[in-house]
Amino acid sequence: MRDFSTDHRWLSINTATVRKSRGVDQPLTTIIEACVQRGIRAISPWRDQVAAAGLPVISKLVKAHGLELSGYCRGGMFPAVDAAGRQAAHDDNRRAVDEACELNAACLVLVVGALPGALTGKAAHKDIALSRSQVNDGIAALLEYARSNNMPLAIEPLHPMYAADRACINTLEQALDVCDALDPSHSGALGVAVDVYHVWWDPKLQQQIERAGKNRLLAFHVCDWMTPTTDLLNDRGMMGDGVIDIPKVRGWMEGSGFAGYSEVEIFSTGTWWQRETGEILDTCIARHTSAV
Ligand code: ZN
Repeated sequence: MRDFSTDHRWLSINTATVRKSRGVDQPLTTIIEACVQRGIRAISPWRDQVAAAGLPVISKLVKAHGLELSGYCRGGMFPAVDAAGRQAAHDDNRRAVDEACELNAACLVLVVGALPGALTGKAAHKDIALSRSQVNDGIAALLEYARSNNMPLAIEPLHPMYAADRACINTLEQALDVCDALDPSHSGALGVAVDVYHVWWDPKLQQQIERAGKNRLLAFHVCDWMTPTTDLLNDRGMMGDGVIDIPKVRGWMEGSGFAGYSEVEIFSTGTWWQRETGEILDTCIARHTSAV
């Protein structure tokens, strides 16, 4: 297992972590400069942040600084009530692949979606099996396009508490079953993003990380699980402040061949987004060396 205790060369910042500084939205250009100042070599930006700044601006900035993208957030949200909705999702996902290519991202992260309408308050139906089959079909169709553009797709299983509204793929096992079905040769075109926040509790975690193997372990996201968690989406903890044994999970990842960045992804309305960008990043660097 790599020694992270002496430097932060394998730290990546998911830019949602510093989306806000003292509660105020931060432009991605400012976030990038703050990362570069601290010798952070990789980021994983969100599409809305890139769109707000302009893709050409961000592309130029990333290249000028030699920054790597440990991932691009995000594609997915495949299920819809009708064929037109699924086609719109497919078209948008193709654009996400194009953007990820322009930014030379390591992978496009997929949050696959769940019951249509649930995210905005009213699910159109209760058939989660139907949503799962639409997710399967959606990934299959996108995979062809992504493969032809050499952009790996990383399915991110989300904690079951998001099964209704954000992702109906909820365990690593489920995500890997999709990978086995759609990419039986383990080509590297389809894999998983392992986010400790979503999977730390899973009794099969070690076994499934080993099952995934090097070609399918495309991203590793870290933060911590707070007790109590006061908000299901935006109360993620800083590494070391909660109950997840992150080094143990990283050990399993690396034991299976993962050698990429450890990407800090913290959504925290009440705590970290109330701090200043510099303080958040400095804390990420410190905890990367002590708690990851
Ligand atoms: Zn994640």
